[in-house]
Amino acid sequence: MPRHALYPGTFDPVTNGHVDIVQRCATLFDHITVAVAVNPSKTPLFPLEVRLDMLTQVFAHTPKVTVASLDGLLVDFARKHKAHALVRGLRAVSDFEYELQMALMNRRLDDSIETLFLMPSQEYTYLSSSIVKGVARAGGDVRSLVPDCVYERLEALPTS
Ligand code: ADP
Repeated sequence: MPRHALYPGTFDPVTNGHVDIVQRCATLFDHITVAVAVNPSKTPLFPLEVRLDMLTQVFAHTPKVTVASLDGLLVDFARKHKAHALVRGLRAVSDFEYELQMALMNRRLDDSIETLFLMPSQEYTYLSSSIVKGVARAGGDVRSLVPDCVYERLEALPTS
């Protein structure tokens, strides 16, 4: 049976750190769904459609990867899509507390779906969507930190 992983997140926008996690995941699973959270509790810079569009472009040549939007409970989505595992990225210790809380809550909601944590390449350990947006808004160069299609979108933003 093909092994299917779900990689959920806000991806506002997708960075090279996220891409690194998907690539690592692709060595372990037959299929990966990158699930883009609608996330009403956050106010994303990029609307859902744009976040989906950027991810679709980034993984256009990676047949193992599907991009989908995610609303409602993650475990419901995982069950519906017959995912075997949830994948999250762990950067620094600061990620750990929140990620542990989420993983244990998801386990409580559905004990059959495991959460796996993958560490990115060291160069992406301090990379986040927020820092990329902050630097880009201030006119800094983020070309080496994000895929080209994201870089173009960030370049088109007004600088503050
Ligand atoms: P969230 O889902 O918490 O809103 P993101 O959309 O930014 O956050 O990230 C989705 C997942 O990818 C999270 O597990 C996050 O820890 C992970 N992640 C974000 N940036 C990186 C990075 N540079 N390297 C590895 N994992 C990352």
